[in-house]
Amino acid sequence: MAKIYYQHDANLDRLEGKTIAIIGYGSQGHAHALNLKDSQLDVVVGLPTTSLSRQKAMESGFRVENVRDATAQAQIVMMLTPDTLQAEIYQRDIEAYLQPGDTLMFAHGFNIHFGQITPPPGVDVSLVAPKAPGHRVREVFQAGGGTPGLVAIAQDASGQALANALAYSKALGCTRAGVIETTFGEETETDLFGEQAVLCGGVTGLIQAGFETLVEAGYQPEVAYFECLHELKLIVDLIYEGGLSYMWFSVSDTAEHGGYQGSDRLITDQTRQEMRRILEDIRSGSYAQGWIAENRNGRKAFLNRRREQRDLLLERLGKGLRGQMPFLDSRQVPEEAVLAGV
Ligand code: NDP
Ligand code: MG
Repeated sequence: MAKIYYQHDANLDRLEGKTIAIIGYGSQGHAHALNLKDSQLDVVVGLPTTSLSRQKAMESGFRVENVRDATAQAQIVMMLTPDTLQAEIYQRDIEAYLQPGDTLMFAHGFNIHFGQITPPPGVDVSLVAPKAPGHRVREVFQAGGGTPGLVAIAQDASGQALANALAYSKALGCTRAGVIETTFGEETETDLFGEQAVLCGGVTGLIQAGFETLVEAGYQPEVAYFECLHELKLIVDLIYEGGLSYMWFSVSDTAEHGGYQGSDRLITDQTRQEMRRILEDIRSGSYAQGWIAENRNGRKAFLNRRREQRDLLLERLGKGLRGQMPFLDSRQVPEEAVLAGV
């Protein structure tokens, strides 16, 4: 049975009088910084002087320092920069500024698990990973709730690493929903597997292939868009609220009957075999090696793939259709990100 921690298992007083450096102010960074501040903790944000995020952090009332100074001022350093930059940032701006007794924290175990960062022995190393995108971590907290999280300890120099990480989870709102104890290895491997096989890879592959199958057969692309992309949200909401059974209960018997058949035809032994291979590549470190190498070599293949995705008919069409549905609060990749190829 998983060990799950809730509000009464964590004590915020442990972080009183400590300064917490939030390194990075993106999706997770802004949510951690703001939730911690609302939990009455002392937060300093660490960003390079050239960072585009500085302005936002300052407007929210934070002290913003460069990464070295933020680290030096803090007793707890939470690393919330992109995973692919963390090793370099750590070696250049953090390692020498950590002191024995400090805590180095992560929201994803990649760099510790795959040996890209090796902290000194006198430092606690822990992980608090909210299982939600950063903006949700903030929104749900503000509404009085919390996102579930994972907690793990890689190094317990103080003997207090778990209690302190749970206090951090509480400040972030995660103990309101439940925080599962795990290891850096389990968090990293399941996270990578989930995003590759199901959440990001599996789902987008199904949407795109379903849409293209209908369009290729001569159906109107707009109809295919609503069927294969737009409606997915309604189905996922039902699953989120009541599991698969509640979704099956809510759709028609025909949808349920056809759904069982479609699922069996698509998720074949071969698909399951490929899922096991994806997992094997993650566990052996070969996926991580490939991704680290791609980053060292300028990310050309990765950025090409991103451009191809943005140019899909599904994507061009969807933009217009969503524009007609103001209640959707539709969003777009910011123009500057497109121009910068990020
Ligand atoms: P983002 O890309 O959203 O944000 C990265 C931030 O780091 C930006 O503010 C960026 O500033 C800043 N940054 C870039 N370079 C540096 C540098 N040299 N020094 C300091 N700051 C820098 O990252 P995410 O929030 O998505 O990811 C952060 C961590 O959280 C990762 O470990 C990720 O795996 C983990 N995580 C992310 C989740 C998510 O929802 N996205 C979910 C759970 C975990 P600038 O404005 O200059 O670009
Ligand atoms: Mg310090």
